[in-house]
Amino acid sequence: MLYRPGFIAALFAVMALMGTSVMSPASAGVTDQDIANDAKTTSQIVTNGMGRAAQRFSPLKTVNKSNVNKLVPVWAFSFGGEKQRGQEAQPLIYDGVMYVTASYSRLFAVDIKTGEELWQYDARLPDGIMPCCDVINRGAAIYGGMVYFGTLDAKLVALDSKTGKVKWKKKLGDYKAGYSMTAAPMIVKGKVITGVSGGEFGIVGKVEARDAKTGKLAWSRPVIEGHMGTLNGKPSTMTGKKNATWPGDMWKWGGGATWLGGTYDEETDTIFYGTGNPAPWNSHLRKGDNLYAASRIGLNPDTGEIKWHYQTTPWEGWDFDGVNEVVSFNSGGKKLAATADRNGFFYVLDRTNGKLVNATPFVKQISWAKEIDLKTGRPVFIDSNRAGDPTKSEGKKGKAIFSVPSFLGGKNWMPMAYSQNTGLFYVPSNEWGMDLWNEQVTYKKGAAYLGAGFTIKPLFEDYIGSLKAIDPKDGSIKWEMKNNAPLWAGVMTTAGGLVFTGTPEGYFMALDDQTGKVLWKFQTGSGVVSQPVTWDQDGEQYVAVVSGWGGAVPLWGGDVAKRVKHLNQGGSVWVFKMPKG
Ligand code: CA
Repeated sequence: MLYRPGFIAALFAVMALMGTSVMSPASAGVTDQDIANDAKTTSQIVTNGMGRAAQRFSPLKTVNKSNVNKLVPVWAFSFGGEKQRGQEAQPLIYDGVMYVTASYSRLFAVDIKTGEELWQYDARLPDGIMPCCDVINRGAAIYGGMVYFGTLDAKLVALDSKTGKVKWKKKLGDYKAGYSMTAAPMIVKGKVITGVSGGEFGIVGKVEARDAKTGKLAWSRPVIEGHMGTLNGKPSTMTGKKNATWPGDMWKWGGGATWLGGTYDEETDTIFYGTGNPAPWNSHLRKGDNLYAASRIGLNPDTGEIKWHYQTTPWEGWDFDGVNEVVSFNSGGKKLAATADRNGFFYVLDRTNGKLVNATPFVKQISWAKEIDLKTGRPVFIDSNRAGDPTKSEGKKGKAIFSVPSFLGGKNWMPMAYSQNTGLFYVPSNEWGMDLWNEQVTYKKGAAYLGAGFTIKPLFEDYIGSLKAIDPKDGSIKWEMKNNAPLWAGVMTTAGGLVFTGTPEGYFMALDDQTGKVLWKFQTGSGVVSQPVTWDQDGEQYVAVVSGWGGAVPLWGGDVAKRVKHLNQGGSVWVFKMPKG
């Protein structure tokens, strides 16, 4: 039979008369349908990436090229606290509330009309946490009346979305061994999907699925060959084949941290995840491809089995983590996905099988590979640009090289965006290189496991950051916006023809998606290294971004850190709209 709205209303009225409790849609919380439709729904944002494909494209065009210069702040909210540091979160918007995470594993619920705090959750972090790259957090997931986020001591916390009370808490790894969690979790088919951080401490990367209601582990998939997966509490299958691409025992501490979270493609029913560099950095200790580190993998969401993999940097030796977001898009009737790697190449993959379609450089002067062979899918290495084996030289250090990109990457964690209007990807990139050398190292629990030394250096006098508009059809770069400091913020596109992003210098800005011309900018008071969002509310379009300088650059940036040392820390959310009338 057909359920008409009138019938449903009548049914509810009868149930109410009978004293039956009827759950309103709002109290039931975010549904699978809400999540599946997030990219098209403009009134709420319930996924990291503004939709499961993580295109970060909004169909809204109330704010557009002709009027964006009128955008003004509505409210700002301070994260407070004595400690600030990097703020890299993407806010979520649901049922009148903004859910936003902050440094030191904090989560805030804020009234989106007034900017007033509803509740705050502070994870009680133990001494001795080991985040490699600042005390940041990149956001939460929301589902069924709960909000989920990961903490620096490697816990996954589920909170009641109305009150902030803890519903359950699960350990993702041993923080004393270097595990931590900073990425936004993802919801797929009633499960919370997470990865782990900690690659620089010789942890083993993994992807895991837990029941969203109870936190019970459904499956675990280590991403380094030789390790066993689990399914429903029992061993499932081994990842790859032990010692096929790793010598000796090196796979035991093989890295491959899954520190940036994944995306999900409903059309192929596949979870996409990226994996970090193999550990340690000194590649001479682990000759071989070192699967599945520095790769993108496609996973079965029900079992955690690996369906396919594509390795961006086999026998990785420059800290080129392969974690970058896999963004689904369709072109010419093909199901494709794009990903811009730390190693400086922009890849287009067939997302039904992970096969390479195209790979092109998106930064200048790449030194470690000549190109990506489109037949084999493998890089054509420039052998002289691999740092030397320390056992083959006198003293402790191997032969040093100058490599481009630097280990912080042609692109780091900050997500790119795709515009359904222009068909272009907007990629926040950086032009820099590094002196790199290898040293001997042995694994020790809880100690840095690098076996390398490095100094990052700018390539050009006037800029490091470079936002690029890239055509995925041929990898051509349509325009570039240069920025003095390294870019470290995510990007968002809109049907209004705008590209939003921020700079460490404190500006939140909107650019013309066709030309790259800056149409509007606003000084937020601290560096913008987060991920903007937009939604509509009461017929008006709102735009929000988190401000707060920090992240990996000031900690690891070598000569580059000197360039940005005058920038001030902060911690706040800014919300903008057009003035009425
Ligand atoms: Ca790394």
